[in-house]
Amino acid sequence: MTEDPEELAERKMRFLFALRQRGVTDPRVLQAMERIDRGGFVRGHFQDRAYEDTPLPIPCGQTISQPSVVALMTQALEVGPRDKVLEIGTGSGYQAAILALLCRRVYTVDRHRRLVSEAEDIFRHFGLSNITAMVADGSRGLPEQAPFDRIMVTAAAEDPPGPLLAQLKIGGIMVVPVGQSDAVQTLIRVRRGETGYEYDELRQVRFVPLVEGLGQT
Ligand code: SAH
Repeated sequence: MTEDPEELAERKMRFLFALRQRGVTDPRVLQAMERIDRGGFVRGHFQDRAYEDTPLPIPCGQTISQPSVVALMTQALEVGPRDKVLEIGTGSGYQAAILALLCRRVYTVDRHRRLVSEAEDIFRHFGLSNITAMVADGSRGLPEQAPFDRIMVTAAAEDPPGPLLAQLKIGGIMVVPVGQSDAVQTLIRVRRGETGYEYDELRQVRFVPLVEGLGQT
């Protein structure tokens, strides 16, 4: 990570500019992306690339998503300040931290214990006290805290998982990448209405797969 504060400020400005260029227009989302320093979620020599619009490796063979994808998914979720949000796939904790600035409470789960515990340390460091991180198989959702106003899935499923659909409130929104893990996937937004679910396709994305069961580490 560069030591020069001017260069760092310049990099962060370019980072926000890149988000706007990619279609991130919601001022609340841009403000949250500005406040949460992505550099805090990336380790080792990848830290130098924290402000590039690119996914980067994190432990357990996973990835921190591309910032413009994080921002566009957050924007698509239409999160309100009173919402209770579930995120599947804590990973580095970056997406959960952004969500935490926009809603009342975030529950985030990952199948890797190591990722959950490292993310918890970062949440404490940033003073984000409205995030609860847990080790769990997110393909089952989090029945003990359901229903949720919003659900964000940050790993690709072949179909939107049934338990997650069931744990969405009426009027709720879920954003989920759908498709095979080795191919380009489609980001889907699901709205739950009084009488059923409405689906719309947002864009092409590439995520690591949603894997059932807990990880070894
Ligand atoms: N949102 C993350 C990026 C997530 S990468 C960030 O901001 O950094 C996808 C994550 O989903 C990985 O950490 C992976 O371990 C997790 N994952 C995959 N299948 C899962 C499942 N069934 N339950 C919970 N987490 C899962």
